[in-house]
Amino acid sequence: MKIKPKKTPMREQDPKERIKNFNEVPFGYTEEEAVIEAERCLQCPKPLCIEGCPVNVDIPGFIKAIRERDFDRAIKIMKNTNSLPAITGRVCPQETQCEERCVLGKKFEPVAIGRLEAFIADWEAKRGIKIPEKPKPLNIKVAVVGAGPAGLTCAADLSKMGYDVTIFESLHLPGGVLTYGIPEFRLPKSIVEREVNYIKDLGVKIQCNVVVGRTVTVDDLFKEGYKAIFIGTGAGAPRFMKIPGENLLGIYSANEYLTRVNLMKAYKFPEYDTPIKRGKVVAVIGAGNVAMDAARTALRMGAEKVMIVYRRTEKEMTARLEEYHHAKEEGIEFHWLTTPVRYIGDEEGWVKEMEVIKNKLGESDESGRRRPVPIPGSEFRMKVDMVIVAIGTVPNPLVAKTTGLKTGRHGVVIADENGRTSREGVWAGGDIVTGAATVILAMGAGKKAAKDIDRYLKEKYLNGV
Ligand SMILES: Cc1cc2nc3c(=O)[nH]c(=O)nc-3n(C[C@H](O)[C@H](O)[C@H](O)COP(=O)(O)OP(=O)(O)OC[C@H]3O[C@@H](n4cnc5c(N)ncnc54)[C@H](O)[C@@H]3O)c2cc1C
Ligand code: SF4
Repeated sequence: MKIKPKKTPMREQDPKERIKNFNEVPFGYTEEEAVIEAERCLQCPKPLCIEGCPVNVDIPGFIKAIRERDFDRAIKIMKNTNSLPAITGRVCPQETQCEERCVLGKKFEPVAIGRLEAFIADWEAKRGIKIPEKPKPLNIKVAVVGAGPAGLTCAADLSKMGYDVTIFESLHLPGGVLTYGIPEFRLPKSIVEREVNYIKDLGVKIQCNVVVGRTVTVDDLFKEGYKAIFIGTGAGAPRFMKIPGENLLGIYSANEYLTRVNLMKAYKFPEYDTPIKRGKVVAVIGAGNVAMDAARTALRMGAEKVMIVYRRTEKEMTARLEEYHHAKEEGIEFHWLTTPVRYIGDEEGWVKEMEVIKNKLGESDESGRRRPVPIPGSEFRMKVDMVIVAIGTVPNPLVAKTTGLKTGRHGVVIADENGRTSREGVWAGGDIVTGAATVILAMGAGKKAAKDIDRYLKEKYLNGV
C-alpha cells in the first residue's frame, strides 16, 4: 500500500472564531480519521518511537490495535504505561519526543502519535472509563506531595502495585500546571478532571488545601505512618528580569495571570468574581509554551494587539511548534531579538510604555543556543498597557527548606536518576528536580520513583517479597 506522506489533518476552530472563545482549538480525530492515520504506521520491528517517549508507551502496539478497530485493546495497551493519555496526547511536544524518532519522519511527516493517543483516550471516555482490578493491599502508606503530573503518575503506579497512597495538594484542585497553567482552549479542565478521577478510581486519595511545609511537614507525615514520601511540587515560583518599573500596575507574571484566568476562571467574569486587567495592547516577554499560552489568553480576554517580545530568534524559542503556529494564525505579533530594559508608568502607576533594546546573536551559551548580545544605541519605546512576564519559573523553596533536602541551582532538589533525595525515605521528581520542563518528563520521573519506592519498601518492610 502506498504511504500517505502527510499526517491525516485534524479539523479545528477557525482562527477568527476561536480568538473569541476559550473552547478547545482542535476537534480531534473521528474513528475513520484515526484508522486512516494508524494505517500510516510502518510497524517497525525495532520501534525507535518508544525510546523517544519518557514513559515508554507501546506506540506500535496501540496503533496496530486502532488500525484493527480494536479500540478497547488500544486503550488497554496505552494505560499499561500512561495513566494520563488524553492529556499527553494534547500537550506533549511530540515533535521532539516520540514523533521525532518515527522512521516515517525521515522522508515524510511522522505518524501523528499524539493525536492518536488523544483519540483513543476520548473514545474510551465517551463509553465509560474502565478501572483495572485492584491488587491485593500491601497495607503500607505512601505520601505524595503535589498533584501535578509527576505526583499523579507516581501515585497511580504505586496504587496499582497495592500501596495505600495519599496525595497532599496545596491548591483547592488537583492537576498542577495542567489545571492552573495550561489554558482551557489547549487542555479543557473537564479532561484533566476526568483523568484525575481515573487516578482516584485506582484507589489514590487526594487531600487538597494542604500546604506541606506549613499545614503539615514531611516529618509529621513520617510520624503519621507514611513509609515513603514522593515530592512533586513543581517549579511554580515566577522569575522576573529585575529591571526598573517592573512593579508597575498592569505587569503580571505569566503564572499569576494564567492562574487567575484558568484556575480562578476570570474569563467567566462576572459569573466568577476574579479581578484581572483586560489589556488592550499587551506585551508578553519570552517565547516558551508559557508565553504562547499567556499571549493567546490575553487575545481571548479582549486585547486588540498582543506582541511576543523575545531576546533571541524563532530558531531558539522553546515553545511547541503547534502552539507557535496557532499563535501566528491568531494574529499574535512576534518581535524577535528584542529585550525590555525598563517600563514607564503613568501618573497613577499603571504601565504605559516599555523601553526595549535590539540584540544580535553571539556565541552559544550553556543551553547550546546562541546568546543575545545587546546592540548599543538601538533602544526604542513600545506603547503597552499590560505586560506579562514569561521568562521561566523556579521551585518554591518551602518543602526543601522544611525538610532539609539538598538543593542545587535555583533551588531545585537534588535527586538521583530514580528520584532518591539526600534524605532516606524521600523521593522527588518533575519540575522540582529538573526546573521547568515538560509534562511527560515529570510523568517519567514519577514512574521511575514509583518503581524505586516499591523496591525500597519491599526490601525494608516486606522481606524483599
Ligand atoms: C503555562 C504553561 C504551559 C505549559 N505547557 C506545556 C506543554 O504544552 N507541554 C508540556 O509538556 N509541558 C508544558 N508545561 C510544563 C509542564 O506543565 C510542567 O513541566 C509540569 O506540569 C511539571 O509537573 P510537576 O508535577 O513537576 O509540577 P506541577 O505541575 O507544577 O505540579 C506541582 C503541584 O504541587 C503543588 N504544590 C506546590 N507546593 C506544594 C506544597 N508545599 N504542598 C503541597 N502541594 C504543593 C502545586 O500546587 C501543584 O499542584 C507548561 C507549563 C506552564 C506553566
Ligand atoms: S506520552 Fe507523549 S512522548 Fe509518549 S507516546 Fe504519547 S505523545 Fe509521545
